[in-house]
Amino acid sequence: MNLEFKNKKVLVRVDFNVPLDNKNKITDDTRIKSALPTIKHILKAGGAVILMSHLGRPQKKLKEDGSVNVNKFTLQHLVSHLNKKLRLKVKFCPETVGKEATKMAKVLKSGEVLLMENTRFEKGETKGDPKLAKSMSALADYYINDAFGTAHREHASTAVIAKHFKKGTKSFGFLMEREIENANRLLNNPEGPVTAIVGGAKVSDKIMLLEKLMNLANNIIIGGGMAYTFMKALGGNTGNSLVEEDKIKLATKLLAKAKKKGVKIYLPKDSVIADSFSEKAKRETKYSMRIKKGWMGLDIGPKAQKEFSDVIIKSKTILWNGPMGVFEMKPFAKGTMTIAKAVAKATSKGAFSLVGGGDSVAAVNQMGLAEKVSYVSTGGGAMLEFLEGKELPGIKAMSK
Ligand code: AMP
Repeated sequence: MNLEFKNKKVLVRVDFNVPLDNKNKITDDTRIKSALPTIKHILKAGGAVILMSHLGRPQKKLKEDGSVNVNKFTLQHLVSHLNKKLRLKVKFCPETVGKEATKMAKVLKSGEVLLMENTRFEKGETKGDPKLAKSMSALADYYINDAFGTAHREHASTAVIAKHFKKGTKSFGFLMEREIENANRLLNNPEGPVTAIVGGAKVSDKIMLLEKLMNLANNIIIGGGMAYTFMKALGGNTGNSLVEEDKIKLATKLLAKAKKKGVKIYLPKDSVIADSFSEKAKRETKYSMRIKKGWMGLDIGPKAQKEFSDVIIKSKTILWNGPMGVFEMKPFAKGTMTIAKAVAKATSKGAFSLVGGGDSVAAVNQMGLAEKVSYVSTGGGAMLEFLEGKELPGIKAMSK
């Protein structure tokens, strides 16, 4: 963010897509907190900040008369929290672009913050409408993109808008810079041994990541629901575990590819199995290849926890994407918790650890271990795509 902000109007695209409860209170303000350093820096340097963000998917949940549900999706819900965090009175504009927006942006003074209404109230936002992007750009002198969470979308306010700002009038914010820097640290010449821990529900969501990891990692640990498709590919009995039948062939191919490339794949030797998908289900620990009919693997077992932890602790670079089990249910959270602790321990011994893309971020936060790993990404889908090697539209647009 090497720009001279004094007396400039700065449009900052942030990702304030925070979870709200049924009283519209913020239940997790991580995304807001992550954007504060950028906002504060611009204010301190004498700039005026115009904030834009989306919140939820208002166009997917229109009211019966076809209009946007303003009460549910308005960014007004965030104002009092922002006031507290920034220790000033944030002004709120009830539209994203238009006459009122232009007027409010025009009279905004240095040191002030104006929060615009939900970008997705505008139909053209998610379509990347060039006209909308141009109207947005007309509100400010500079454009700062700090919305890593939506960098994989080619939307009006996240990507298309950037072409209206010449070099020297646009930049990434601090959060975006950190996300890119940390992901690149993993992708470009990471110190070995490199271990990737991949979990979560489905193989189909992680195919591209697994392919990419074949060229990057020494060890790939596979846990969570996706492990059972691999177990089945190896001829195991998986009972009612989550198996994607149409991905069994692919799993076989991936295992063969890993062998050829000398990448060691670790699958959970044992699993905590349950007779139903419920916290109250009967539980047993069994070999993952020998799951009984009618039962399902919902967490990695103690043998797998030990083996995985031993590999992790010896690693110098670690990527963790996706939980080892259904960690939202206490009886099946131990595997994920143990792995989180192992990642934290490896980090304390000098490893670089990146937790990103998927529910492992929630798991690390839930366990209070976010401070004990090197970096926790704020962008689920965006981080996953970045790690897969895709060029993200929000990043690409800034280089033009
Ligand atoms: P992801 O978003 O890909 O990281 O997937 C996270 C989801 O995978 C979480 O909601 C977990 O509950 C779920 N999950 C993890 N392990 C299993 C499992 N063994 N069976 C079913 N779902 C699982």
